[in-house]
Amino acid sequence: MSLKTLFVSSEIYPFAKSGGLADVSYALPKALSENVDVALIMPLYKSIDREKFGITSSGVSFKLTLDSVNYKVEYFFALYNGLKCYFLYSEILSERDNLYGTANSGYEDNDVRFGLFCHAVIHFVQNFATSFDVLHLNDWQSAICALLVKEKKLNIKTVFTIHNLAYQGIFDKSSLDRLDLSEDYFTSESLEYYEDVNFLKAGIAYSDYITTVSPSYAKEILTHEYGLGLDGFLQVYSHKLSGILNGIDTKDFSPKTDESLWQNYDAKLMSEKQTNKLNFLESIELTDEKRPLFIFIGRFTWQKGMELLINSLKEIATLNVNIAILGDGEEKYHKAFRKIAQKYENIDVRFGYDEKTSRRMYAAADYLLMPSAFEPCGLNQMIAMNYGTIPIVRAVGGLKDSVKSIEKFNSNESSGFGIVFEEMNKDALIHSCEDAVKLYHQKQLLRKIKRHNMNQDFSWKNSALEYEKIYKNITRK
Ligand code: ADP
Repeated sequence: MSLKTLFVSSEIYPFAKSGGLADVSYALPKALSENVDVALIMPLYKSIDREKFGITSSGVSFKLTLDSVNYKVEYFFALYNGLKCYFLYSEILSERDNLYGTANSGYEDNDVRFGLFCHAVIHFVQNFATSFDVLHLNDWQSAICALLVKEKKLNIKTVFTIHNLAYQGIFDKSSLDRLDLSEDYFTSESLEYYEDVNFLKAGIAYSDYITTVSPSYAKEILTHEYGLGLDGFLQVYSHKLSGILNGIDTKDFSPKTDESLWQNYDAKLMSEKQTNKLNFLESIELTDEKRPLFIFIGRFTWQKGMELLINSLKEIATLNVNIAILGDGEEKYHKAFRKIAQKYENIDVRFGYDEKTSRRMYAAADYLLMPSAFEPCGLNQMIAMNYGTIPIVRAVGGLKDSVKSIEKFNSNESSGFGIVFEEMNKDALIHSCEDAVKLYHQKQLLRKIKRHNMNQDFSWKNSALEYEKIYKNITRK
């Protein structure tokens, strides 16, 4: 009999997405569903198009009382691409313009919003669902579920996945009251964190198993440099921690079928990739398609190497290249990018979240820039390689695990290849871009590497099997 797993996430593609977590929260369950009986659960934000996805009310609502405040929760259901999806609606959780707040600050009551989400998930599991063997929790927003499972002595095992240690869900101590959690949890072995409450610690301490999204990141978060204040705490639990590299949904992110593109192509039909480049350059009014096209797509945050990128763009722009940037994030970076775009005729910057443009960029580009300060896994580099775009990455976290240096290019090796640099400094990044320009003129080798990358398997197949193994091991105990 197959294991029953409920995958709990605060964002799932295509219903609601702010980053890679949403991609993973769809693609991993989809891959798992080959062998595991998996269902998904997330908040029903008001931005989710109920009609488009066929989301209907179960007709069942329940009341949760936390710290003498009553919250009404209603659950909804949809079958999406064969996956059972549950949605929890409650006014405080759902009726907001954004998922978590703005790029500069989260909603002040996110403790209650996501604490309530966790209470509601547990209530749902106890009262409405057929019994689950495993709850697979993701990031701080669902971490409190692990604590509640232990507190209520439920016969369910929990796996907790850390997608990004930088987001820990830190709130004032009074959160414990607001969520009806005992003061006993306010110790350094439990949720207390420098006089505040840290939700992520609940996932780490109370889950049966912890995963992160790449083997390198699993090691890095145990160090002072990358542990973001939790390295010591994580070390205590390192016996139940491992890293599993994310995949991408290769059916969805496929240049062969992607409907956003001007022209579909595959590893054999690379000239069609050039059509996408020509059209894209025209659409953003950049000229000279003979220049290599470098792109950056992502959140404008320190994590993604924004200072380094912004400080290096002046020099990179002189290399006879075109550069297109798409993203959203902190205002100081918007300001810097606006200035740069005005000054350099070969740099185009677009602000906002735009799925279609991002796909067109992956198809059009020669190189993807990813100079991350840290990178738990990163999906962009895998999407890029699948579209025949060579990544230029810093050797950190999942970038290190998914992109091998072209200096060691070997067409018999089943790995993606790109330009890899170690140091987080301008010289290293600019030098890598110079190498990229040189490689661009070695047409045969360039084509060979692009083709090789496009023929690699970046799907979830192998990683889903590893998660399945973990589910089996913990439920056996
Ligand atoms: P993150 O740290 O933001 O989760 P990942 O590399 O794991 O980064 O995943 C990022 C995902 O979001 C990729 O699918 C990427 O293409 C997409 N993405 C990021 N920023 C944008 C944007 N501004 N417009 C469209 N897609 C974006």
